[in-house]
Amino acid sequence: MKETPEKPLGLERVKRWLYDKSLDERGAGCVLCGSCYGHGPVNPMEDEPGFKSKCPPYEYYRFQRFTPKSRWLMSQRVFHGLDSITPELKEIIYSCTTCLMCQEICGVRNDGYGPWDITVAMREEITEKEGPLDAHRPILEGLRLFDNPWSQPRSDRGQWAKGLGLARLGKNEASTLLFAGCSADRDSGRPGAVSLAKLMKQAGERFVIMGEEEGCCGLYAKDLGFRKEYYRLEEGNLRMVGMGGIKKIVTACGSCRRIWQDYPAEEMKGIEVLHGVEYLEGLLRAGRLKFTKSIRKKVTYHDPCHLGRGCNVYEAPRTILRSIPGVELVEMPRNRRWSWCCGGGGGAPEAFPEMSLWNAEDRLREAQESGGEILVTTSSLCLRSFASCQQEQLKVQDLFEFIYQAI
Ligand code: SF4
Ligand code: SF4
Repeated sequence: MKETPEKPLGLERVKRWLYDKSLDERGAGCVLCGSCYGHGPVNPMEDEPGFKSKCPPYEYYRFQRFTPKSRWLMSQRVFHGLDSITPELKEIIYSCTTCLMCQEICGVRNDGYGPWDITVAMREEITEKEGPLDAHRPILEGLRLFDNPWSQPRSDRGQWAKGLGLARLGKNEASTLLFAGCSADRDSGRPGAVSLAKLMKQAGERFVIMGEEEGCCGLYAKDLGFRKEYYRLEEGNLRMVGMGGIKKIVTACGSCRRIWQDYPAEEMKGIEVLHGVEYLEGLLRAGRLKFTKSIRKKVTYHDPCHLGRGCNVYEAPRTILRSIPGVELVEMPRNRRWSWCCGGGGGAPEAFPEMSLWNAEDRLREAQESGGEILVTTSSLCLRSFASCQQEQLKVQDLFEFIYQAI
């Protein structure tokens, strides 16, 4: 494995925000306002307070120590050598579902860092000093051996595209890449990747896929604190798209979109990153995506945390859904930037399955109460979370699969 020790890891990476005394210019720290978990006066820098339920682990455990604020303060104490890494600290740091709500809210952060970044840096610190949580070891092993969090052998990668007749990177002049994501070969991601590819073909788009050459975007490596693995995956992906002359990357999963957009701007110069739903919205506006069938259903859309708060993509899915004849879009109370997490991110389902399930069930309850007959979403993590709930009242479907039915 190629390591990149020159890049900072762990709390060293965010020391400016932890009051590194040796630096001339320090970042502003947490002002303990409590807004990130719904117990502040209001959001410190804006008028709209949003819903009171903000941080999933805090809402589940109901102890102060499970708040973003506490994660920040605990990390700060470790940074200054005042506390050591204890099992209790690990439980608190790893219970974060990576919903990005605290990043969205925290008003003192306007420099690209926030309470979630510090939580992730603390995870990196733990990984460096003690290794990953036992529950996350298989993910790290899978990434190291197969570039895949679920240890899927390379030879099995890209099976989702079998029979679709899609061109491969390097064997075609197309400069648009459909990045399917690791979940495309699993139940949670296959329908979305297949339907997006079909929709793009239908519109006459020229694009390529990576097939068995595709590796993980780095989502798990980044969010679970395996920073060295993350840098390695990022480097590999950048090399691949560079060699293939790719100018546009279209992702099938909201989390892949978030990771690709965060690759170094310098190396992504001239490459546009879009989620499939943004891409389809462009086709719709250009009159190249036409709906010929009607779907008479009440549909509610679940904003995946990584596509919504992570990438600010809120309207494209709604515009497309409203354009489908017969569809009535009904909103859940917690929508767009206040969307409630499904509990599926940050390694929470592996380490804290009960909390994760509680999260998903709470979201499905909200969807049912909104009057929706179908919940659609566009993240394989969310689809996996909802699939783990034992319920039959509400149908859950991938957004692209839903859209394809109207073609
Ligand atoms: S990212 Fe979400 S779960 Fe994690 S600390 Fe922030 S609000 Fe809580
Ligand atoms: S992390 Fe940000 S929002 Fe949360 S208490 Fe601190 S300053 Fe307030």
